Amino acid sequence: MWTSHLVKPDHNIRLMDAKADVPKDYQGAKAEISKRLEGLREDLRGYQELLSAQGKHRLLIILQAMDTGGKDGTIRYVFGGVNPQGVSVTRFGVPSQEELAHDYLWRVHQHTPGKGHVMIFNRSHYEDVVTVGVKKLVPDKVLRQRYQQINDFERMLAEEGVTVLKFFLHISKEEQKRRIQERLKDPKKHWKFTLSDMQSHKRWSVYMKYYEEAISRTSTAWAPWCIVPADKNWYRNLVVAESIVDHLKQFKMRYPKLKLNPNKVSF
Ligand code: ADP
Repeated sequence: MWTSHLVKPDHNIRLMDAKADVPKDYQGAKAEISKRLEGLREDLRGYQELLSAQGKHRLLIILQAMDTGGKDGTIRYVFGGVNPQGVSVTRFGVPSQEELAHDYLWRVHQHTPGKGHVMIFNRSHYEDVVTVGVKKLVPDKVLRQRYQQINDFERMLAEEGVTVLKFFLHISKEEQKRRIQERLKDPKKHWKFTLSDMQSHKRWSVYMKYYEEAISRTSTAWAPWCIVPADKNWYRNLVVAESIVDHLKQFKMRYPKLKLNPNKVSF
């Protein structure tokens, strides 16, 4: 099912055409999907343990979204049941002076996953072509060069054995408004509200333009984008969890065998 949301390489996407709401076939299926999600979370827990025990594969999950798009909620729900020792999250905020003194991939590369590890990027180097583009922090020419540099970087990671999965959590402008209002109403959510939420809402169509360009230019065979309809959390979680579990399944992992004869272990 998640494969229907994949972006084919060299395909020019239009986010206006990509629905943020639950696809027709799944509307009204919340209860059934919630059950399925529980199973997927259990599968993920098991596969992550295998991944860690085998110490061979590396998984990088990149989450991008507009403000309030649900990156935090996705991480919390999908990875809520796994062993925290095998999964890390790196958030990428406004670059520090030291980060700005380096190339834009410098701060990213040092957080890519090691063997047996899952790394989740909460925002990523895609900020360097989207937010940086919207805010005109670099000339357009530099921006265009970055698409190719990102593709080369991700190809290198893939060739070195890192599986790269990229999810754009796609919410509608109306849903963002609803979520911002909710944040403003609920004192427990005030800490989540920043003025940048409002700025991104006001500049919605400009953000969409830069996301469309970035996703169209960087969905590759080795690191494809998945545009996740994310207005409803349960459907969003399903797409992300299914994709990750399917990839882990394809690794065909086995627990490593004991390197000695257990009968010869004496106490
Ligand atoms: P979040 O919104 O993900 O919960 P923050 O509130 O800390 O996290 O926001 C992080 C901010 O940093 C976002 O506004 C984002 O656009 C910005 N940011 C991230 N990377 C860059 C970058 N390379 N250049 C400029 N701004 C960036």
